[in-house]
Amino acid sequence: MRPERLNPLFATSAGLKGVGAGIMRPLEKLGLTRVRDLVYHLPDRFVQRRAVADLDEASVGEQIVVRLTMREYRAGGSARAPFRVHAEDAAGNVCALTYFGRNAGWARKQLPLGESRWIAGRLDQFGQTLQIVHPEHVADDGAVALGTLCEPVYPLSEGLTQGRIAALVGQALAQVPDLAEWIEPGLKARTGWPDWKPALLEAHRGEHKLARDRLAYDELLANSLALMLVRDANRARAGQPLRGDGHLRARLSLPFALTGAQRRAIAEIEGDMAQGSPMLRLLQGDVGAGKTVVALEAMLIAVEAGAQAALLAPTEILARQHHATLTRMAAGTGVTIALLTGRDKGRQRESILMGLLDGSIQICVGTHAIFQDAVAYRDLALVVIDEQHRFGVGQRLMLTQKGQNSPQGRRTPHCLAMTATPIPRTLTLAQYGEMDVSRLDEMPPGRQPIDTRVVAVERMDDVVGALERHLATGQQAYWVCPMVRENETVDLAAAEARFAQLQVRFGGDAVLVHGQLRPEVKDAAMERFAAGQARLLVATTVIEVGVDVPNATLMVIEQAERFGLAQLHQLRGRVGRGAEKSTCLLLRGEALSEVARERLALMRETQDGFRLAEEDLRLRGGGELLGTRQSGDTPFRVASLEQIAELLPLAHDDARLLVERDGGLTGERGEAARQLLYLFERDYGVQLLRGG
Ligand code: ADP
Ligand code: MG
Repeated sequence: MRPERLNPLFATSAGLKGVGAGIMRPLEKLGLTRVRDLVYHLPDRFVQRRAVADLDEASVGEQIVVRLTMREYRAGGSARAPFRVHAEDAAGNVCALTYFGRNAGWARKQLPLGESRWIAGRLDQFGQTLQIVHPEHVADDGAVALGTLCEPVYPLSEGLTQGRIAALVGQALAQVPDLAEWIEPGLKARTGWPDWKPALLEAHRGEHKLARDRLAYDELLANSLALMLVRDANRARAGQPLRGDGHLRARLSLPFALTGAQRRAIAEIEGDMAQGSPMLRLLQGDVGAGKTVVALEAMLIAVEAGAQAALLAPTEILARQHHATLTRMAAGTGVTIALLTGRDKGRQRESILMGLLDGSIQICVGTHAIFQDAVAYRDLALVVIDEQHRFGVGQRLMLTQKGQNSPQGRRTPHCLAMTATPIPRTLTLAQYGEMDVSRLDEMPPGRQPIDTRVVAVERMDDVVGALERHLATGQQAYWVCPMVRENETVDLAAAEARFAQLQVRFGGDAVLVHGQLRPEVKDAAMERFAAGQARLLVATTVIEVGVDVPNATLMVIEQAERFGLAQLHQLRGRVGRGAEKSTCLLLRGEALSEVARERLALMRETQDGFRLAEEDLRLRGGGELLGTRQSGDTPFRVASLEQIAELLPLAHDDARLLVERDGGLTGERGEAARQLLYLFERDYGVQLLRGG
């Protein structure tokens, strides 16, 4: 249960003064449904204003606060012309306060003729006269005006104003309790970080780096601590030591020799699986690095030891593909591999369920369906999760707990997670810090580099011509259109229009796949393409994950500048899988930002996913101080990419020390750390504590 002290922070924003249904919607959009969220809604930047005695002291373009006396109203000639108030400063300079739209009535009321007011805003020039357009603040009281000299600028959504959000944040901050310190005293002394509550208040008041760093560190520490507790709890669980005698693996007929990296990873996995505590290992390997065969070897170890293994894929398509590949590779072993997806019904499903229960099926491949309550295994000892990045740590936890089932009693299966997303080391720590990591950092030999070119979109005709010649050789191709959530309707229309256009040229050879098609339609199109019946696959980014069609050797990516490096890399990995040389054409629009230009150049230069991931982080994290916080590709909302890079290793070590010293979090600092876990909603960590 959440400590009582934190309750005010978890109260709904709807309870704040002045919050009605109308404003809740934009608040929800920003994820600000509770007091806690508002408190952590930190400003993107601050407006700095200067108080001046008169306008002679100020320069055009500057944000100022100045006292002016209202002299004259000037309504414009036409209805659309602005309303102007001519005002005078202490030195007799005239400045127009300009209001567009229907603000005249409001302006007359705020700015009575003959009276003086404090005005805050940006000084501009309009022809020969000075003006301030839509002053940010009008105040009677100098103290109020001077309070706006440093003003936060918050991330907004439609329906909110800076004033509204600032007022709500203010109310929320008034409810912040004092909490005991969870940061290690030595670190705090060394860094000079403020206490938690003062840090929160300061972070809203100005650019206080120490306060911001402290708050970011809190978030990172909470994350690391929860991961450490998961790791700790996992170690304490009873697993099933598995030793394979190699008889099945010896019968695998692979058409290639394993790479050194693959052999290392298999040895690490074999070592883990022989232990009494369950394995929790991440297999990180670029697209095409050969993770599947590593997974198969791991599963065969389990089967050799007389147990079962399951492989969980994120989509139906991938489950089918894995099933086909594994069945082919394991043909000589006599192992039975079943496919179970949500779409299997009736007799066939019944017979698979029977086989899993009586052990006649040794390996099960499927989607989430393989962990439904109705699915019981005779002795499930290994769970492999492919494309791990779609699962958060909380979900991973659930999966392994559900997997508990063996004749010897409750045992936690070994878990091998696989991800094809090469992420930088710091982010690996943030997302998979509870796991041991094996990296496939060596590609199978004989891969031809993919010829990557950047082509201006004006050369579309040439591109389509090249595509036609390519298809005429009997090879296949992908055509990728961008699709982002904020722009979904437009993007979808563009993709459909492109498909229609290509279909005129290529007829039934072309198929379209995108996220809004029904799964059956999508799968049917994918299957036609995989079988070689369709030769051009036009798609939004749904092909990103794991599809394997070696005969597809050309990829065209439209509006490539709109994709991140990591995503481009993932996409490009769909080609270059066969013996033929592959090409990737990155179509770019006319106006490119500096960063976009650099990204495309990098794509041309290297195919090393880990390098691209590090560069991606650098390009996004570099220039801007904030603003990447809500991009959603880190599990953090407070910490920026730079803060993650700088502070995460520290938080990780600190979390480990704390758990080693006080695994139950019962000491004084441990208690404080529990509150931290609740504060950042990593309370699955606390639940593990209670479970003992
Ligand atoms: P991913 O890591 O993306 O899942 P896959 O397991 O699908 O990669 O492997 C990509 C391709 O490389 C497959 O066709 C696979 O058979 C092949 N492959 C895997 N390991 C090797 C190897 N050591 N030598 C040559 N080819 C390999
Ligand atoms: Mg794969």
